[in-house]
Order: sequence, then C-alpha cells, then structure tokens
Amino acid sequence: MIKRIGILTSGGDSPGMNAAIRAVTRVGINSGLEVFGIYNGYKGMTEGYIEPLTRDSVSQISNRGGTILGSARLPEFKDVAVREKAIKQLKKRGIEAVVVIGGDGSYRGALSLTQMGINCIGLPGTIDNDITCTDYTIGFYTALQTIVEAVDKLRDTSNSHHRCSIIEVMGNRCGDLALYAGITCGADIVITKDTGFNEADVLDRLRELDTIRKKKHAIVIISEKITDVDEFAKKVSLNTGFSGRATVLGHIQRGGSPCPFDRLLASQMGEKAVDLLMQGIGGQCVCIRDNKIVSYPIEKALKMPSDSRKPLTNLFERLI
Ligand code: ATP
Repeated sequence: MIKRIGILTSGGDSPGMNAAIRAVTRVGINSGLEVFGIYNGYKGMTEGYIEPLTRDSVSQISNRGGTILGSARLPEFKDVAVREKAIKQLKKRGIEAVVVIGGDGSYRGALSLTQMGINCIGLPGTIDNDITCTDYTIGFYTALQTIVEAVDKLRDTSNSHHRCSIIEVMGNRCGDLALYAGITCGADIVITKDTGFNEADVLDRLRELDTIRKKKHAIVIISEKITDVDEFAKKVSLNTGFSGRATVLGHIQRGGSPCPFDRLLASQMGEKAVDLLMQGIGGQCVCIRDNKIVSYPIEKALKMPSDSRKPLTNLFERLI
C-alpha cells in the first residue's frame, strides 16, 4: 500500500481547484496517507518546491478561486531528463503517486510520469470544458455564472441605447461557454467554432432583428479566437440600425468563488483520485459521465471525440 502522495495544479487555473486540493488532502489523510503539496505545477516538482499538507492547511479554501498551490507551465517537462529530475525530487521525499489537476497538456505529463513508475491520476481543472472525456470540467459552471451575470448587466444598458452587445467569452476552441451562456442568457446569436462565422449572415440577421422584429437591443455571444470583436462591432454600427459594442470578458471568467456544483464535483473527483491511487492504479483521469464519477485511461481519454452539441444547438435555435 502506498503511504505518500503529492498533488499539483498545472496549466491555466480554474475555480474549484482549491476544493479538489482540499478533497485529495483530507480523503488522503483520513485514509492513512501523507499528502504533499507540489507548488507551481511540474516546475515546482522539478525544483523540489514540495511541502507537506495538513488537514488545517486546506481549511477555508474551498470557497476561494485560483489555486493555493500556484500553477505554471513548463514546456521542458516533455524532456525525459527533466522528468527524471522531477522524479528524483519525489523519491527523495518518499512520494509514490501524484494527483494532477489541469488540462490535457497536464494529463500528458501525468501519463509520462506514470510510464516512468510514478502513478498519476488526472483531474479536469479548466473553465473551458474542452476535455472531451468528461461532461463537465471543474470550473466550467462558475465561469458560466460569471458570464451570465455580465451579460445580464450588459443587456440592461444595451436596451436603453438600442445597442448590439457583442460579448467574447473564453473556451479555447470549445464553444460550450458561448453556447450554454447563449441559452441561459437568452442571446440572439451564438457564434462558436461549431456554428462557424459568416459575417454577412450575422449582419443580415441583426438587420432583421432591428427592422422586422423591432428589437430594442441584440446580444451576440462569440467564442474567443474567432474574429476581432472590436472590428466586428464597428461593422455592426455601419451596416445595421444597432450601435455595436464589443466586450471581451477575458480573465474575470477565470476568477471568483466556485459555485456549489464545482465544489461538489471537485470533492467527488478528488475522492475518486485518492481511491484509485490507493488501489495501485495510475495513468487514468477522472470524469463525470451521465452524472456518475468514473475514470478512463489517459491515453484513451485524450483520443475520445467530443459529444455532439446538436441537441443544445437545436434548443438554442428553438428558444429564439
Ligand atoms: P489549459 O487547458 O489551461 O491550457 P493544460 O494542462 O492543457 O491546461 P498545458 O500548458 O498544455 O496546459 O500543459 C501544462 C503543462 O503540462 C506544460 O507546461 C508541461 O509542463 C506539461 N506537459 C504538456 N504536454 C506535455 C507532454 N506531452 N509531456 C509531458 N509534459 C507535458
């Protein structure tokens, strides 16, 4: 039976990572393990920035956004020599297994470590919901809540000034934040990688909303990395009856106190990760599928196609 495990957060941070750290630490300690915090992701692992975590050191953190362990990117971790250095740091402290909270890049690091003899379990920590094997990632619903609150506020002012608000949200090539926000905010148009962006069609649609539907305002939600929203807003002002205004929500979507769903999901996933490591299992990632907490081998998980978003896209269209 293993005695010592480590935990780290890697890649972009997300609300709920702290709840996962707390769950891994407390479930681990309550199961007779010693738990170590590895600071600043794989960078801290390589440098030996590793400290014991206690029951008390993770108290009062599940309500806080960000990650108490810090996060970092270390591209050099792809080099076997760098990973060997990291493994030396773990062995020096008797750490036999690690929980890695992050995105798919962090999972690749976790898989490489497992193949080198350190069992690792990945937890999906990202607001983007871009890890295909899981229905939801830790942080997605909190980011969605932040977006919904922002769009509700923009709607008030758009309405007063006959504006079209164009709101750019995150997602890293995954359209879920935009699509879910479109449904829950009652947006007029959602633009994602899946819908594609035909500028002329969108301008036509906005003209129709103005002249035929006589709408006082319009809300367009668009995923990042699709078009320059400031330039597009100028075109809206020039080509439709609305005054176009772009808002890039940016990193506020990453912050804030995690919503109860993210805290619960993080706690369930943290528990599952510890249970897997205690059974001597590594190289897996924890997911929620159809409301059940399950795990898949990382290699398989990284190749899984994403579920179709057609039902939600259809719902959005039927709500307009
Ligand atoms: P996000 O979704 O926020 O971008 P991520 O985990 O995908 O999170 P990456 O920057 O891709 O973020 O990866 C995080 C870290 O994982 C990298 O900085 C690197 O240290 C490690 N990593 C990424 N890919 C590999 C790989 N192929 N082999 C070993 N380690 C890797």
